[in-house]
Amino acid sequence: MFKKILIANRGEIALRIQRACRELGVKAVMVYSEADRDAKYVRLAEEAVCIGPAASNLSYLNMPAIISAAEVTDAEAIHPGYGFLSENADFAERVEKSGFQFIGPTPESIRLMGDKVSAKQAMIRAGVPCVPGSEGELPDDPTQIRRIAKTVGYPVIIKAAGGGGGRGMRVVHTEAALINAVAMTKAEAGAAFGNPAVYMEKFLQNPRHIEIQILADTFKNAVYLGERDCSMQRRHQKILEEAPAPGINRKLIERIGERCVTACKKMGYRGAGTFEFLYEAGEFYFIEMNTRVQVEHPVTEMVTGIDIVKTQIMVAAGEKLPFTQRQITINGHAIECRINAEDPYKFTPSPGRITTWHAPGGPGVRVDSHIYTNYFVPPNYDSMIGKLIVHGDTREQALARMRTALLETAVEGINTNIPLHRELMVDAKFMAGGTNIHYLEHWLEQHKR
Ligand code: ADP
Repeated sequence: MFKKILIANRGEIALRIQRACRELGVKAVMVYSEADRDAKYVRLAEEAVCIGPAASNLSYLNMPAIISAAEVTDAEAIHPGYGFLSENADFAERVEKSGFQFIGPTPESIRLMGDKVSAKQAMIRAGVPCVPGSEGELPDDPTQIRRIAKTVGYPVIIKAAGGGGGRGMRVVHTEAALINAVAMTKAEAGAAFGNPAVYMEKFLQNPRHIEIQILADTFKNAVYLGERDCSMQRRHQKILEEAPAPGINRKLIERIGERCVTACKKMGYRGAGTFEFLYEAGEFYFIEMNTRVQVEHPVTEMVTGIDIVKTQIMVAAGEKLPFTQRQITINGHAIECRINAEDPYKFTPSPGRITTWHAPGGPGVRVDSHIYTNYFVPPNYDSMIGKLIVHGDTREQALARMRTALLETAVEGINTNIPLHRELMVDAKFMAGGTNIHYLEHWLEQHKR
Protein backbone atom coordinates (compact mmCIF):
# COMPACT_ATOMS: atom_id res chain seq x y z
CA MET A 1 0.00 0.00 0.00
CA PHE A 2 1.04 3.59 -0.59
CA LYS A 3 2.48 5.57 2.29
CA LYS A 4 1.23 8.91 1.03
CA ILE A 5 -1.32 10.12 -1.52
CA LEU A 6 -1.97 13.60 -2.85
CA ILE A 7 -5.64 14.48 -3.32
CA ALA A 8 -5.99 16.80 -6.33
CA ASN A 9 -9.47 18.07 -5.65
CA ARG A 10 -11.63 20.13 -3.33
CA GLY A 11 -14.99 20.10 -1.55
CA GLU A 12 -16.84 17.03 -0.38
CA ILE A 13 -14.90 14.59 -2.58
CA ALA A 14 -11.56 15.79 -1.16
CA LEU A 15 -12.93 15.02 2.31
CA ARG A 16 -14.32 11.66 1.12
CA ILE A 17 -10.91 10.59 -0.22
CA GLN A 18 -9.16 11.89 2.90
CA ARG A 19 -11.48 9.67 4.99
CA ALA A 20 -10.64 6.63 2.83
CA CYS A 21 -6.91 7.32 3.26
CA ARG A 22 -7.23 7.49 7.04
CA GLU A 23 -9.02 4.13 7.11
CA LEU A 24 -6.28 2.60 4.98
CA GLY A 25 -3.55 4.11 7.15
CA VAL A 26 -2.28 6.16 4.21
CA LYS A 27 -1.15 9.76 4.72
CA ALA A 28 -3.12 12.28 2.64
CA VAL A 29 -1.70 15.51 1.26
CA MET A 30 -4.41 18.07 0.55
CA VAL A 31 -4.04 20.82 -2.01
CA TYR A 32 -6.09 24.00 -1.90
CA SER A 33 -6.62 27.27 -3.68
CA GLU A 34 -6.52 30.59 -1.83
CA ALA A 35 -10.35 30.45 -1.72
CA ASP A 36 -10.28 27.09 0.09
CA ARG A 37 -7.76 27.93 2.80
CA ASP A 38 -10.40 27.39 5.51
CA ALA A 39 -11.83 24.14 4.17
CA LYS A 40 -12.51 21.48 6.79
CA TYR A 41 -10.26 18.87 5.12
CA VAL A 42 -7.41 21.41 4.96
CA ARG A 43 -7.78 22.11 8.68
CA LEU A 44 -7.88 18.37 9.36
CA ALA A 45 -4.90 17.65 7.12
CA GLU A 46 -1.48 16.56 8.33
CA GLU A 47 -0.08 18.19 5.21
CA ALA A 48 -1.61 20.75 2.87
CA VAL A 49 -0.18 22.76 0.00
CA CYS A 50 -1.58 25.94 -1.53
CA ILE A 51 -1.51 25.51 -5.31
CA GLY A 52 -2.68 28.91 -6.47
CA PRO A 53 -5.40 31.54 -6.53
CA ALA A 54 -9.15 30.91 -6.52
CA ALA A 55 -9.56 30.59 -10.30
CA SER A 56 -9.63 26.86 -11.15
CA ASN A 57 -7.35 27.22 -14.17
CA LEU A 58 -4.66 28.61 -11.87
CA SER A 59 -5.13 26.03 -9.10
CA TYR A 60 -7.17 22.82 -9.45
CA LEU A 61 -6.50 22.67 -13.19
CA ASN A 62 -2.87 23.72 -12.84
CA MET A 63 -0.95 20.53 -13.67
CA PRO A 64 2.60 21.75 -12.89
CA ALA A 65 1.46 23.16 -9.51
CA ILE A 66 -0.20 19.87 -8.55
CA ILE A 67 2.72 17.73 -9.66
CA SER A 68 5.25 19.89 -7.83
CA ALA A 69 3.07 19.68 -4.70
CA ALA A 70 3.36 15.89 -4.97
CA GLU A 71 7.13 16.21 -5.44
CA VAL A 72 7.75 18.45 -2.44
CA THR A 73 5.61 16.28 -0.14
CA ASP A 74 7.00 12.94 -1.37
CA ALA A 75 3.57 11.58 -2.27
CA GLU A 76 3.52 8.34 -4.24
CA ALA A 77 0.15 8.60 -5.93
CA ILE A 78 -2.40 11.21 -6.98
CA HIS A 79 -6.16 10.80 -6.61
CA PRO A 80 -7.96 13.16 -9.00
CA GLY A 81 -11.52 12.86 -7.55
CA TYR A 82 -14.19 13.88 -10.07
CA GLY A 83 -14.38 16.96 -12.33
CA PHE A 84 -11.23 19.12 -12.73
CA LEU A 85 -8.37 16.92 -14.07
CA SER A 86 -9.98 13.55 -13.33
CA GLU A 87 -10.71 12.71 -16.97
CA ASN A 88 -7.77 14.50 -18.51
CA ALA A 89 -5.58 11.89 -20.24
CA ASP A 90 -2.68 14.36 -20.58
CA PHE A 91 -2.71 14.89 -16.82
CA ALA A 92 -2.74 11.14 -16.12
CA GLU A 93 0.20 10.82 -18.49
CA ARG A 94 2.16 13.63 -16.87
CA VAL A 95 1.49 12.20 -13.42
CA GLU A 96 2.90 8.83 -14.46
CA LYS A 97 5.83 10.33 -16.38
CA SER A 98 6.74 12.27 -13.22
CA GLY A 99 6.95 8.97 -11.36
CA PHE A 100 3.63 8.98 -9.49
CA GLN A 101 0.79 6.49 -9.66
CA PHE A 102 -2.40 7.96 -11.12
CA ILE A 103 -5.37 6.61 -9.14
CA GLY A 104 -7.55 5.82 -12.12
CA PRO A 105 -7.35 4.06 -15.46
CA THR A 106 -4.47 4.31 -17.94
CA PRO A 107 -4.17 7.49 -20.05
CA GLU A 108 -5.13 5.32 -23.08
CA SER A 109 -8.43 4.25 -21.48
CA ILE A 110 -9.20 7.83 -20.47
CA ARG A 111 -8.47 9.06 -23.99
CA LEU A 112 -10.55 6.33 -25.62
CA MET A 113 -13.57 7.01 -23.40
CA GLY A 114 -13.08 10.80 -23.34
CA ASP A 115 -13.95 10.99 -27.00
CA LYS A 116 -17.57 9.87 -27.10
CA VAL A 117 -17.30 8.82 -30.74
CA SER A 118 -14.36 6.47 -30.10
CA ALA A 119 -16.05 5.32 -26.86
CA LYS A 120 -19.20 4.29 -28.72
CA GLN A 121 -17.17 2.50 -31.35
CA ALA A 122 -15.28 0.59 -28.65
CA MET A 123 -18.58 -0.38 -27.02
CA ILE A 124 -20.04 -1.63 -30.28
CA ARG A 125 -16.91 -3.78 -30.70
CA ALA A 126 -17.32 -5.11 -27.14
CA GLY A 127 -20.99 -5.99 -27.68
CA VAL A 128 -22.47 -3.21 -25.52
CA PRO A 129 -25.71 -1.85 -27.07
CA CYS A 130 -25.59 1.85 -28.07
CA VAL A 131 -28.13 4.54 -29.02
CA PRO A 132 -28.67 4.28 -32.79
CA GLY A 133 -27.04 7.15 -34.65
CA SER A 134 -24.25 8.24 -36.96
CA GLU A 135 -21.40 5.81 -37.27
CA GLY A 136 -18.74 8.09 -35.92
CA GLU A 137 -18.24 11.80 -36.42
CA LEU A 138 -20.64 13.72 -38.69
CA PRO A 139 -19.21 14.68 -42.09
CA ASP A 140 -19.21 18.31 -43.34
CA ASP A 141 -21.39 17.72 -46.38
CA PRO A 142 -24.99 18.90 -45.64
CA THR A 143 -26.52 16.34 -48.03
CA GLN A 144 -24.81 13.52 -46.19
CA ILE A 145 -25.85 14.92 -42.79
CA ARG A 146 -29.48 15.07 -43.96
CA ARG A 147 -29.27 11.51 -45.23
CA ILE A 148 -27.90 10.26 -41.87
CA ALA A 149 -30.66 12.08 -39.94
CA LYS A 150 -33.31 10.56 -42.20
CA THR A 151 -31.94 7.07 -41.57
CA VAL A 152 -31.69 7.63 -37.79
CA GLY A 153 -35.18 9.22 -37.73
CA TYR A 154 -36.28 12.50 -36.14
CA PRO A 155 -36.03 13.78 -33.48
CA VAL A 156 -32.25 13.50 -33.34
CA ILE A 157 -29.70 14.90 -30.88
CA ILE A 158 -26.42 16.45 -32.02
CA LYS A 159 -23.70 15.84 -29.42
CA ALA A 160 -20.11 17.01 -29.07
CA ALA A 161 -17.56 14.17 -29.20
CA GLY A 162 -15.60 15.92 -26.45
CA GLY A 163 -18.68 17.07 -24.45
CA GLY A 164 -19.31 16.68 -20.76
CA GLY A 165 -21.26 18.07 -17.83
CA GLY A 166 -24.48 18.12 -19.81
CA ARG A 167 -23.12 20.71 -22.26
CA GLY A 168 -22.66 20.53 -26.02
CA MET A 169 -25.97 18.92 -27.00
CA ARG A 170 -28.82 20.07 -29.22
CA VAL A 171 -32.11 18.36 -30.06
CA VAL A 172 -33.38 18.67 -33.64
CA HIS A 173 -37.00 17.92 -34.54
CA THR A 174 -37.14 18.79 -38.23
CA GLU A 175 -34.90 18.68 -41.29
CA ALA A 176 -35.28 22.46 -41.69
CA ALA A 177 -33.45 23.04 -38.39
CA LEU A 178 -30.77 20.38 -38.91
CA ILE A 179 -27.86 22.04 -40.69
CA ASN A 180 -27.94 25.17 -38.55
CA ALA A 181 -28.08 23.08 -35.36
CA VAL A 182 -25.05 21.05 -36.44
CA ALA A 183 -23.10 24.24 -37.22
CA MET A 184 -23.99 25.81 -33.86
CA THR A 185 -23.11 22.69 -31.86
CA LYS A 186 -19.80 22.39 -33.74
CA ALA A 187 -18.92 26.02 -32.98
CA GLU A 188 -19.82 25.65 -29.31
CA ALA A 189 -17.95 22.36 -29.02
CA GLY A 190 -14.83 23.90 -30.56
CA ALA A 191 -14.91 26.80 -28.12
CA ALA A 192 -15.85 24.81 -25.00
CA PHE A 193 -13.97 21.54 -25.46
CA GLY A 194 -11.30 22.40 -28.05
CA ASN A 195 -12.75 19.74 -30.35
CA PRO A 196 -15.42 20.68 -32.91
CA ALA A 197 -16.30 17.05 -33.80
CA VAL A 198 -19.98 16.21 -33.34
CA TYR A 199 -22.05 13.05 -33.81
CA MET A 200 -25.71 12.23 -34.06
CA GLU A 201 -27.99 10.01 -32.00
CA LYS A 202 -31.65 9.24 -32.06
CA PHE A 203 -33.26 11.44 -29.41
CA LEU A 204 -35.05 9.03 -27.12
CA GLN A 205 -38.37 10.49 -25.97
CA ASN A 206 -38.97 8.91 -22.56
CA PRO A 207 -35.80 7.23 -21.36
CA ARG A 208 -34.50 6.76 -17.87
CA HIS A 209 -30.81 7.31 -17.07
CA ILE A 210 -29.47 4.06 -15.63
CA GLU A 211 -25.77 3.52 -15.03
CA ILE A 212 -23.62 0.55 -14.08
CA GLN A 213 -20.76 0.91 -11.57
CA ILE A 214 -17.73 -1.23 -12.27
CA LEU A 215 -14.43 -1.91 -10.50
CA ALA A 216 -11.41 -3.54 -12.13
CA ASP A 217 -7.90 -4.44 -11.02
CA THR A 218 -4.67 -4.93 -12.96
CA PHE A 219 -5.04 -8.76 -12.95
CA LYS A 220 -7.92 -8.73 -15.46
CA ASN A 221 -10.53 -9.07 -12.72
CA ALA A 222 -13.60 -6.87 -13.11
CA VAL A 223 -16.98 -6.75 -11.37
CA TYR A 224 -20.14 -4.67 -11.59
CA LEU A 225 -21.78 -3.30 -8.46
CA GLY A 226 -25.33 -3.10 -9.74
CA GLU A 227 -26.96 0.00 -11.14
CA ARG A 228 -28.01 3.52 -10.21
CA ASP A 229 -31.04 5.41 -11.44
CA CYS A 230 -30.09 9.04 -12.13
CA SER A 231 -33.14 10.11 -14.11
CA MET A 232 -33.96 13.10 -11.92
CA GLN A 233 -32.12 15.77 -13.93
CA ARG A 234 -32.34 19.43 -14.79
CA ARG A 235 -30.52 20.59 -17.91
CA HIS A 236 -28.91 17.14 -18.20
CA GLN A 237 -27.49 17.54 -14.66
CA LYS A 238 -28.36 14.97 -12.01
CA ILE A 239 -29.90 16.20 -8.78
CA LEU A 240 -30.81 12.97 -6.99
CA GLU A 241 -29.89 9.35 -7.49
CA GLU A 242 -30.97 5.98 -6.16
CA ALA A 243 -30.02 2.32 -6.17
CA PRO A 244 -31.39 -0.08 -7.22
CA ALA A 245 -33.44 1.34 -10.12
CA PRO A 246 -37.14 0.84 -9.34
CA GLY A 247 -39.03 -1.66 -11.46
CA ILE A 248 -36.26 -2.97 -13.71
CA ASN A 249 -35.99 -6.72 -14.14
CA ARG A 250 -32.88 -8.03 -12.31
CA LYS A 251 -32.08 -10.37 -15.18
CA LEU A 252 -31.79 -7.38 -17.54
CA ILE A 253 -29.43 -5.66 -15.11
CA GLU A 254 -27.33 -8.80 -14.82
CA ARG A 255 -27.08 -9.12 -18.58
CA ILE A 256 -26.00 -5.50 -19.09
CA GLY A 257 -23.67 -5.64 -16.08
CA GLU A 258 -21.92 -8.66 -17.56
CA ARG A 259 -21.53 -6.86 -20.89
CA CYS A 260 -19.85 -3.95 -19.08
CA VAL A 261 -17.49 -6.33 -17.27
CA THR A 262 -16.57 -7.97 -20.58
CA ALA A 263 -15.92 -4.54 -22.12
CA CYS A 264 -13.62 -3.65 -19.18
CA LYS A 265 -11.62 -6.83 -19.59
CA LYS A 266 -11.30 -6.24 -23.34
CA MET A 267 -10.07 -2.68 -22.78
CA GLY A 268 -7.69 -3.62 -19.99
CA TYR A 269 -9.58 -1.15 -17.84
CA ARG A 270 -8.43 -0.59 -14.25
CA GLY A 271 -9.99 1.24 -11.31
CA ALA A 272 -13.54 2.51 -10.89
CA GLY A 273 -15.73 3.43 -13.83
CA THR A 274 -19.33 3.98 -14.80
CA PHE A 275 -21.14 2.92 -17.96
CA GLU A 276 -24.02 5.33 -18.54
CA PHE A 277 -27.11 4.10 -20.37
CA LEU A 278 -30.46 5.39 -21.43
CA TYR A 279 -33.16 2.82 -20.70
CA GLU A 280 -36.39 2.76 -22.65
CA ALA A 281 -38.99 0.06 -23.25
CA GLY A 282 -36.88 -2.68 -21.69
CA GLU A 283 -33.72 -1.85 -23.67
CA PHE A 284 -30.39 -0.35 -22.60
CA TYR A 285 -28.50 2.08 -24.86
CA PHE A 286 -24.94 3.10 -23.94
CA ILE A 287 -24.28 6.88 -24.03
CA GLU A 288 -20.91 7.32 -22.36
CA MET A 289 -18.40 6.04 -19.85
CA ASN A 290 -17.01 8.03 -16.93
CA THR A 291 -13.48 6.93 -16.10
CA ARG A 292 -13.45 8.17 -12.50
CA VAL A 293 -15.36 8.03 -9.22
CA GLN A 294 -18.77 9.68 -9.55
CA VAL A 295 -20.66 12.09 -7.30
CA GLU A 296 -23.37 9.46 -6.78
CA HIS A 297 -21.04 6.58 -5.80
CA PRO A 298 -22.36 6.50 -2.19
CA VAL A 299 -25.74 4.98 -3.14
CA THR A 300 -23.87 1.97 -4.51
CA GLU A 301 -21.66 1.83 -1.40
CA MET A 302 -24.78 1.83 0.79
CA VAL A 303 -26.47 -1.10 -1.00
CA THR A 304 -23.34 -3.21 -1.56
CA GLY A 305 -21.32 -2.42 1.57
CA ILE A 306 -18.28 -1.92 -0.68
CA ASP A 307 -16.08 1.15 -0.24
CA ILE A 308 -15.49 2.28 -3.82
CA VAL A 309 -12.87 4.93 -2.98
CA LYS A 310 -10.82 2.58 -0.82
CA THR A 311 -11.00 -0.05 -3.57
CA GLN A 312 -9.79 2.51 -6.13
CA ILE A 313 -6.74 3.15 -3.99
CA MET A 314 -6.11 -0.55 -3.37
CA VAL A 315 -6.16 -1.53 -7.04
CA ALA A 316 -3.97 1.47 -7.92
CA ALA A 317 -1.47 0.14 -5.39
CA GLY A 318 -1.43 -3.16 -7.31
CA GLU A 319 -3.72 -5.18 -5.07
CA LYS A 320 -6.28 -7.66 -6.39
CA LEU A 321 -9.99 -6.92 -6.08
CA PRO A 322 -10.88 -8.34 -2.65
CA PHE A 323 -14.23 -9.79 -3.85
CA THR A 324 -15.65 -11.72 -6.77
CA GLN A 325 -18.89 -11.06 -8.62
CA ARG A 326 -20.65 -13.82 -6.68
CA GLN A 327 -19.81 -12.15 -3.39
CA ILE A 328 -21.52 -8.90 -4.38
CA THR A 329 -25.11 -8.59 -3.22
CA ILE A 330 -27.54 -5.69 -3.28
CA ASN A 331 -29.17 -5.02 0.07
CA GLY A 332 -32.10 -2.66 0.53
CA HIS A 333 -32.40 0.72 -1.13
CA ALA A 334 -30.39 3.95 -1.07
CA ILE A 335 -31.20 7.50 -2.15
CA GLU A 336 -28.88 10.50 -2.49
CA CYS A 337 -29.91 14.16 -2.60
CA ARG A 338 -27.29 16.59 -3.91
CA ILE A 339 -27.32 19.74 -1.78
CA ASN A 340 -26.54 22.77 -3.92
CA ALA A 341 -25.96 26.37 -2.83
CA GLU A 342 -28.58 27.82 -5.15
CA ASP A 343 -32.10 29.18 -5.30
CA PRO A 344 -34.31 26.03 -5.11
CA TYR A 345 -36.57 27.06 -8.00
CA LYS A 346 -34.65 29.66 -10.02
CA PHE A 347 -31.31 27.87 -9.64
CA THR A 348 -29.24 31.03 -9.37
CA PRO A 349 -26.04 30.26 -7.42
CA SER A 350 -26.05 31.34 -3.78
CA PRO A 351 -22.49 31.49 -2.47
CA GLY A 352 -21.68 33.15 0.85
CA ARG A 353 -21.32 32.48 4.55
CA ILE A 354 -23.22 29.63 6.17
CA THR A 355 -24.46 31.02 9.48
CA THR A 356 -26.12 27.80 10.69
CA TRP A 357 -25.57 24.16 9.81
CA HIS A 358 -27.43 21.32 11.44
CA ALA A 359 -26.65 17.90 10.01
CA PRO A 360 -29.26 15.14 10.12
CA GLY A 361 -28.61 11.75 11.74
CA GLY A 362 -30.12 8.49 12.84
CA PRO A 363 -30.07 4.97 11.42
CA GLY A 364 -29.14 4.67 7.75
CA VAL A 365 -28.25 8.36 7.31
CA ARG A 366 -24.93 9.46 5.79
CA VAL A 367 -23.75 13.02 5.17
CA ASP A 368 -20.87 13.64 2.76
CA SER A 369 -20.12 17.33 3.10
CA HIS A 370 -17.22 19.61 3.88
CA ILE A 371 -19.37 22.48 5.19
CA TYR A 372 -19.64 23.73 8.78
CA THR A 373 -21.19 26.67 10.62
CA ASN A 374 -19.39 29.83 9.56
CA TYR A 375 -17.97 28.21 6.40
CA PHE A 376 -17.84 30.56 3.42
CA VAL A 377 -19.05 28.95 0.17
CA PRO A 378 -16.73 30.44 -2.46
CA PRO A 379 -18.36 31.71 -5.67
CA ASN A 380 -15.61 30.21 -7.85
CA TYR A 381 -16.68 26.58 -8.09
CA ASP A 382 -19.56 24.18 -8.62
CA SER A 383 -22.55 24.93 -6.38
CA MET A 384 -22.72 21.46 -4.79
CA ILE A 385 -21.92 21.73 -1.07
CA GLY A 386 -22.67 18.21 0.00
CA LYS A 387 -24.77 15.10 -0.34
CA LEU A 388 -27.36 13.50 1.91
CA ILE A 389 -27.55 9.75 1.54
CA VAL A 390 -29.98 7.38 3.22
CA HIS A 391 -30.37 3.62 3.25
CA GLY A 392 -33.44 1.55 4.10
CA ASP A 393 -34.52 -2.08 3.85
CA THR A 394 -37.05 -1.02 1.22
CA ARG A 395 -37.48 2.00 -1.07
CA GLU A 396 -40.40 3.15 1.12
CA GLN A 397 -38.20 3.09 4.20
CA ALA A 398 -35.43 4.94 2.36
CA LEU A 399 -37.94 7.61 1.26
CA ALA A 400 -39.22 7.98 4.83
CA ARG A 401 -35.66 8.31 6.12
CA MET A 402 -34.81 10.92 3.49
CA ARG A 403 -37.90 12.95 4.44
CA THR A 404 -36.83 12.89 8.09
CA ALA A 405 -33.22 13.71 7.21
CA LEU A 406 -34.28 16.66 5.04
CA LEU A 407 -36.54 17.89 7.84
CA GLU A 408 -33.66 17.78 10.32
CA THR A 409 -31.20 19.50 7.97
CA ALA A 410 -30.82 23.25 8.42
CA VAL A 411 -28.59 25.50 6.34
CA GLU A 412 -28.87 29.24 6.96
CA GLY A 413 -27.12 32.25 5.48
CA ILE A 414 -27.31 30.97 1.90
CA ASN A 415 -30.05 29.46 -0.26
CA THR A 416 -30.03 25.75 -0.96
CA ASN A 417 -32.15 23.35 -2.98
CA ILE A 418 -33.28 21.48 0.17
CA PRO A 419 -36.88 22.80 -0.23
CA LEU A 420 -36.99 21.28 -3.74
CA HIS A 421 -35.81 17.89 -2.42
CA ARG A 422 -38.44 18.04 0.34
CA GLU A 423 -41.16 18.49 -2.29
CA LEU A 424 -39.82 15.74 -4.54
CA MET A 425 -39.77 13.25 -1.65
CA VAL A 426 -43.56 13.58 -1.30
CA ASP A 427 -44.30 13.76 -5.02
CA ALA A 428 -46.69 10.93 -5.93
CA LYS A 429 -45.03 10.04 -9.26
CA PHE A 430 -41.51 10.01 -7.82
CA MET A 431 -42.74 7.96 -4.88
CA ALA A 432 -44.21 5.44 -7.32
CA GLY A 433 -40.73 5.14 -8.92
CA GLY A 434 -39.48 4.97 -12.49
CA THR A 435 -39.87 8.60 -13.62
CA ASN A 436 -37.94 9.49 -16.79
CA ILE A 437 -35.21 12.07 -17.53
CA HIS A 438 -37.76 14.76 -18.51
CA TYR A 439 -39.85 14.43 -15.38
CA LEU A 440 -38.13 17.10 -13.27
CA GLU A 441 -38.18 19.72 -16.06
CA HIS A 442 -41.94 19.15 -16.53
CA TRP A 443 -42.47 19.21 -12.79
CA LEU A 444 -40.64 22.55 -12.51
CA GLU A 445 -42.77 23.98 -15.36
CA GLN A 446 -45.93 22.98 -13.50
CA HIS A 447 -44.70 24.23 -10.13
CA LYS A 448 -43.47 27.60 -11.39
CA ARG A 449 -43.34 30.30 -8.78
P1 ADP B 1 -22.55 14.49 -20.55
O1 ADP B 1 -21.22 13.84 -20.76
O2 ADP B 1 -22.53 15.94 -20.90
O3 ADP B 1 -23.13 14.19 -19.20
P2 ADP B 1 -24.26 12.42 -21.76
O4 ADP B 1 -24.01 11.82 -23.08
O5 ADP B 1 -23.96 11.58 -20.56
O6 ADP B 1 -23.53 13.84 -21.66
O7 ADP B 1 -25.79 12.85 -21.67
C1 ADP B 1 -26.28 13.56 -20.53
C2 ADP B 1 -27.81 13.51 -20.51
O8 ADP B 1 -28.35 14.05 -21.75
C3 ADP B 1 -28.41 12.13 -20.40
O9 ADP B 1 -28.48 11.67 -19.05
C4 ADP B 1 -29.79 12.38 -21.00
O10 ADP B 1 -30.61 13.06 -20.05
C5 ADP B 1 -29.51 13.34 -22.14
N1 ADP B 1 -29.28 12.62 -23.42
C6 ADP B 1 -28.07 12.32 -23.97
N2 ADP B 1 -28.22 11.61 -25.13
C7 ADP B 1 -29.55 11.46 -25.35
C8 ADP B 1 -30.37 10.82 -26.36
N3 ADP B 1 -29.84 10.19 -27.41
N4 ADP B 1 -31.73 10.89 -26.22
C9 ADP B 1 -32.29 11.53 -25.17
N5 ADP B 1 -31.59 12.15 -24.19
C10 ADP B 1 -30.23 12.12 -24.25
